[in-house]
Amino acid sequence: MNTKIDFKEIVGQERIMEKLKRDLESNQIAHAYLFEGERGLGKKDMALKLASALVCHSKDRKPCNKCNSCIKAKSGNHPDIKIIEKEGTIIIDEIRGLINEIQLRPHESKRKVCIICDADKMNIYAQNALLKTLEEPPLYATLILLTTKGDSLLPTVISRCQIIKLQPVNLEIIEHYLVENRGIDGDQARMLAAFSGGVVGRAVELLDNPEFHYRREEIIKICNKLLTFDLFDILEQIKFFEEQKPYIEEILDLMISWYRDIFIYNETKNIRFTTNIDKREEIEFQAAKIDLAKTRDIIFIIEETKNNLGSNVQFHLNIEVMLLNIQEVVLNGNGGRSEI
Ligand SMILES: [Zn+2]
Repeated sequence: MNTKIDFKEIVGQERIMEKLKRDLESNQIAHAYLFEGERGLGKKDMALKLASALVCHSKDRKPCNKCNSCIKAKSGNHPDIKIIEKEGTIIIDEIRGLINEIQLRPHESKRKVCIICDADKMNIYAQNALLKTLEEPPLYATLILLTTKGDSLLPTVISRCQIIKLQPVNLEIIEHYLVENRGIDGDQARMLAAFSGGVVGRAVELLDNPEFHYRREEIIKICNKLLTFDLFDILEQIKFFEEQKPYIEEILDLMISWYRDIFIYNETKNIRFTTNIDKREEIEFQAAKIDLAKTRDIIFIIEETKNNLGSNVQFHLNIEVMLLNIQEVVLNGNGGRSEI
């Protein structure tokens, strides 16, 4: 068979795409795959590409992206590609429906593909109901299970699948992808890559989320104001925290990342090691005012606040004490820290 498999890249997952390509070209497709990895790494895209290649009608390149089958697959309307994707628990009736569907021969292609997104949402009955089909699906069928947490699936389910683990991607690959495909500058791309923790989907989500950019800008301004003596102004800042209360964890993480950058910059004098690399001037300015010991104390204060908020201490008071304590450290070193 001379058919070539044409997989467009899924950012940073080339090794796995190569493996799937080899499986396809040698006609050694597993009857069941389990794609495991964090949300945003491209599991679903990968499953859809594999499904498209399996149902494509072209004789020389698969998926050809041109044939009827590829077009239907792309629009999510291919009768031989079934996808289960839902918010809540996947119950036994849904799996039974899928099994009945698999037993019917493909309508338009030689193959049939079933994708179960968030397979860990299947309850135990649903997982048990799937076992027999996972082990011995009809020859034309391939099942692809996707999950962020493989260990919440029954061992009997896992052992019947070929496991493919998607790993977080090198930050430089994400940076390069954002510059090339989203037309943003290198510093901003590097900053988003650093915040993404190696998850491409998260980097793209952050880029497209104006709220994230707003919160980060505000946090940097607040950190700047904490360098001054103006007590009233500090208390004014609590309004921002109140207004953004549902996102408090993200906000405190942004603050920690900011002070970590200041710490790293003071330690290395190299902006390239920082997360907020696009804020060079602000980092340099603040780093000149807060030394390593102070920065360490500030990070400790923010982490302590995170813990306190988790245990339901009064929100407003907690934030107020945090800001005053940080200011105290900035201005006087770790002096008389207030306790709640
Ligand atoms: Zn095609």
